[in-house]
Amino acid sequence: MHFRSALVFLALASLTVASCSGTSSTSSDASSTTEATPTTELLTTESSTTSITLSRLPLSGKVVAIDAGHNGGNAAHSAEINQLVDAGNGVIKACDTSGTASNDGYAEYEFTLSVAKDLQVLLQAAGATVVTVRSDSSGWGPCITQRAKVGNDAHADIAISIHGDGNDSPGTRGFHVLVPQSTTANSTIVASSNRFGALLRDSFLTTGMPVSNYLGTNGIMPRGDLGGLNLSTVPKVFIECGNMRNATDASMMQSVEFQQSAAAAIDAAIVKFLS
Ligand SMILES: [Zn+2]
Repeated sequence: MHFRSALVFLALASLTVASCSGTSSTSSDASSTTEATPTTELLTTESSTTSITLSRLPLSGKVVAIDAGHNGGNAAHSAEINQLVDAGNGVIKACDTSGTASNDGYAEYEFTLSVAKDLQVLLQAAGATVVTVRSDSSGWGPCITQRAKVGNDAHADIAISIHGDGNDSPGTRGFHVLVPQSTTANSTIVASSNRFGALLRDSFLTTGMPVSNYLGTNGIMPRGDLGGLNLSTVPKVFIECGNMRNATDASMMQSVEFQQSAAAAIDAAIVKFLS
């Protein structure tokens, strides 16, 4: 009994090595033992199935950077947040801003982190490596320079910055995607970012949020003043998921259903872009 267990263990050990190295050789000890043969065949089948499943994940080997806009401590750290930084493309501006909020006090930084977390789960389930600018709302910043650097350092295949807009003009609502303008200094990411931006715009319509009726053209708006885009060396866009100062948009954006739907729409666009 003990001897037989040892043989099965040997068979397992030899198969583990074989599946890691990609070779089909097996231990002569295991293959010469009749009791171990059925176990060997079963494990080979299971091992092959697992291997095929992993290689078919749509984002295997891809890196995605998620930037949840703003932070919970920004308002209380105005000196740090207002320090001027080089935002690229000849623009000097504040390190970050505190972001907007709905009329009933739901903060943009809370919304952006909720969507970012939902998105991270979906991307990782699809096989992606995810890097994030922040994972909670307890601190301030980081500056827009650092927000771009996270995606750059990770050599991300795509980077997304998640926001909600704050426009007080009556009747203004809807989402829009901010893409790097064609005259920006980092021209190498313009075409790919615009291609992703169009995919994201199309995908985001599934959330029920309409395209913006006050900014951009059919939901797309080129920008040359955003450090997060100007300083990015990898394809990147921002999305303003809605207008938090509009009661209809704000109501949607506070719902868990919309936040999950927004994450799913971004995830779908990323899968399409990287496939
Ligand atoms: Zn914002």
